[in-house]
Amino acid sequence: MRVALPILPLLSAFLLCPAQASAADVAQRPEVAAAAQQLQDKVLTWRRDFHQHPELSNREERTAAQVAAHLRKLGLQPRTGVAHHGVTAVIKGGKPGPRVALRADMDALPVTEQTGLPFASKATSTYRGETVGVMHACGHDAHTSILMGVAEALVAMREDLPGEVLLVFQPAEEGPPDNEEGGAAMMLRQGIFRDFKPDAVFGLHVTSALPVGHIGVRSGPLMAASNRFSLRVIGRQTHGSRPWGGIDPIVAMADVIGTAQTIVSRRTDISRLPAVVSFGAVKGGIRHNIIPDEVQALGTLRTFDDGMRDAIFADLANVTEHVAAAHGARAVLDIERDDAYPATINNPELTARMLPSLQRVAGVGNVIEPPLQMASEDFSQYARQAPGLFFFVGSTAVGVDAETAPSNHSPQFLLDEGALDVGFRALLQVTLDYLNGAPAPAPATAG
Ligand SMILES: [Zn+2]
Ligand SMILES: [Zn+2]
Repeated sequence: MRVALPILPLLSAFLLCPAQASAADVAQRPEVAAAAQQLQDKVLTWRRDFHQHPELSNREERTAAQVAAHLRKLGLQPRTGVAHHGVTAVIKGGKPGPRVALRADMDALPVTEQTGLPFASKATSTYRGETVGVMHACGHDAHTSILMGVAEALVAMREDLPGEVLLVFQPAEEGPPDNEEGGAAMMLRQGIFRDFKPDAVFGLHVTSALPVGHIGVRSGPLMAASNRFSLRVIGRQTHGSRPWGGIDPIVAMADVIGTAQTIVSRRTDISRLPAVVSFGAVKGGIRHNIIPDEVQALGTLRTFDDGMRDAIFADLANVTEHVAAAHGARAVLDIERDDAYPATINNPELTARMLPSLQRVAGVGNVIEPPLQMASEDFSQYARQAPGLFFFVGSTAVGVDAETAPSNHSPQFLLDEGALDVGFRALLQVTLDYLNGAPAPAPATAG
């Protein structure tokens, strides 16, 4: 995922009830602090190792083997090979209690690293037939290491732990290669929540858009649904000097793209929730003096609401058909409805309940509410099966402007390793507080 969050104070009165910010509440659990201190070197070492050995989506063979070996060493019985290279394991506490799932993603991106770190990746792989550099440019190396650390901490306190924890190490969050399946939806299809039905699911993402030490969390919609579409406008080929002898699909496509921009700006109620229609590729023609038969385009739609998404796609179908027809051309619109990336919606009750846990870890003033993110996350798949909470962990070094720092997916994406500590403590604190029955906060009173 890619994010750009200006830092806003947490405004919601519902979330920031003053009663939650009393001095007694702001301390994190002593066992969290102790575990963080004890495990921080390990988490750091794992992260650097993963960073140096990144693997593309659905190719996380080495990463998965390291994870499984670690879990076996802890005495767990990991299930491997889930959705290709996914790994899951259950930690059973010594006392009865609720069931929690914790998810980390493991894949890297076809990006050639330019950080200059001593443990920078020199790995290459093949992507869409090309040799590419591979880099943990989205920080999933941090997520995997943090969850390995949290697993070790939870196993160490297993006797006193109420309930059960499912660890989910997921491949292919960034999307499987063409013609392959993978990611969260495939792990769910393979039954990871069938045998273990969680009462809550938690996940986190490091982000360049927040300084290290900060946590971003938002109740309700957080990240957009992503749907791809492809479009063909078919005309009739002719000589460039004689446009009247054919049907020009280039001019027709230009009008289709232009008119498509009015779907969001003129026909969608963006006062309710934002939406984006973008074209990312247009291809057609080969010579200056041939009007081609056909032009093709690719685009993406980002929405937060199924009804809005369906309405925009209906408008897009309408625009393409009729604008192309006005040129005498024909349009074929192909909408991807596989629903791999639905909107990520944080469960409001769970968010309100766990907010104090995050505040105890980062400090009340360091937990902020980011704006809606038009990027997507397949954590949303889990959050549709169980109440979910996904939060951001700042990873830009102090003294660097987080707004202009190279973002996730950039070859210069530079994670301040302090984010490992914050992420570890946040995930462990949230898990322990939930399992121990952290009470729902009292509803905010007027004023
Ligand atoms: Zn990403
Ligand atoms: Zn990511």
